[in-house]
Amino acid sequence: MRFVVVTGANKGIGYGIVKGLLSNSSVSSRVYLTSRDEERGKRALEQVVAETKHLWAPETSVEYHQLDITSDTSISAFTTHLLEKFGQKCVNILIDNAGYASKGPEFSGDIVKQTMDINYFGTVKFTERMMDLMSTDSKVIILSSVLGKLYNVPEKLQHIYSDPNLTMDQLNHIQHDFVQAAYEGTCKEKGYSTNSYSFSKVAISAYARVLARRFAADPRRIFIASCHPGWIRTDMGGQNAPHDVDYGIKTPLYLVNEYIKNLLQYSGNYFSESKVEEW
Ligand code: NDP
Repeated sequence: MRFVVVTGANKGIGYGIVKGLLSNSSVSSRVYLTSRDEERGKRALEQVVAETKHLWAPETSVEYHQLDITSDTSISAFTTHLLEKFGQKCVNILIDNAGYASKGPEFSGDIVKQTMDINYFGTVKFTERMMDLMSTDSKVIILSSVLGKLYNVPEKLQHIYSDPNLTMDQLNHIQHDFVQAAYEGTCKEKGYSTNSYSFSKVAISAYARVLARRFAADPRRIFIASCHPGWIRTDMGGQNAPHDVDYGIKTPLYLVNEYIKNLLQYSGNYFSESKVEEW
């Protein structure tokens, strides 16, 4: 029985991952479908049950809980719920899928802040809170993007991000500075790119590396990775994307299903097309 938590699962790739997990009739799963909006989440729950119930392995189940990764209150309510219902170290797999990309090329302080608050600060805050709940031989899978590859940030930042001694303080400081620069209109002179989505995804892949280093000696053996799902037809990916959601769930589900002993040596890495890729 694997216990899986998926964020931002009311639609798109997150919904597809939940559907893929429940449709596996040879592995029992307890899946938490979470969403920031309760109504949309509960509708998704009903739909995924209707679509998959006939395929469920014995003892498979899916439950809903509200979760906005940018809200301390919401994160606390969810983690307390898990702790009270299932106890310490109950989660086998965390899938940090929730994400945001503004539509269109507009660049403003507010857009940068919203993007960073969800894709970087929210993901980090929620993941940090979940680490105590992760079981032995567990996995943290973070949805990044091909736009989260290192070359998408200026060279100066590439050096800092790829430093094996990069700290969370340094990483957080750069993200705060980027948001401030966006409000002040000083991104260009500070050498920051003006693609906030890409900036946030490079930062979250850097976070996966820092987190993996921090937990490398943890006796629980926790595998941590970031991954690119492909360019996928969702509300975010748009209708011109070449791949459907079934394709987009392949790499995340590969990381879910692969034996942890085959993965642990790659903890912290960036995956695409179900394999490790240079970040
Ligand atoms: P969608 O826009 O279709 O779905 C995003 C999901 O994240 C929605 O459920 C959304 O909820 C949720 N979400 C947004 N903000 C929050 C929040 N604060 N708390 C909790 N949930 C939140 O995107 P995709 O399914 O396409 O993308 C899923 C992941 O894959 C993202 O991280 C994205 O960056 C990444 N990705 C996607 C690619 C693509 O081509 N589609 C390519 C590369 C990476 P709501 O419905 O309430 O807005």
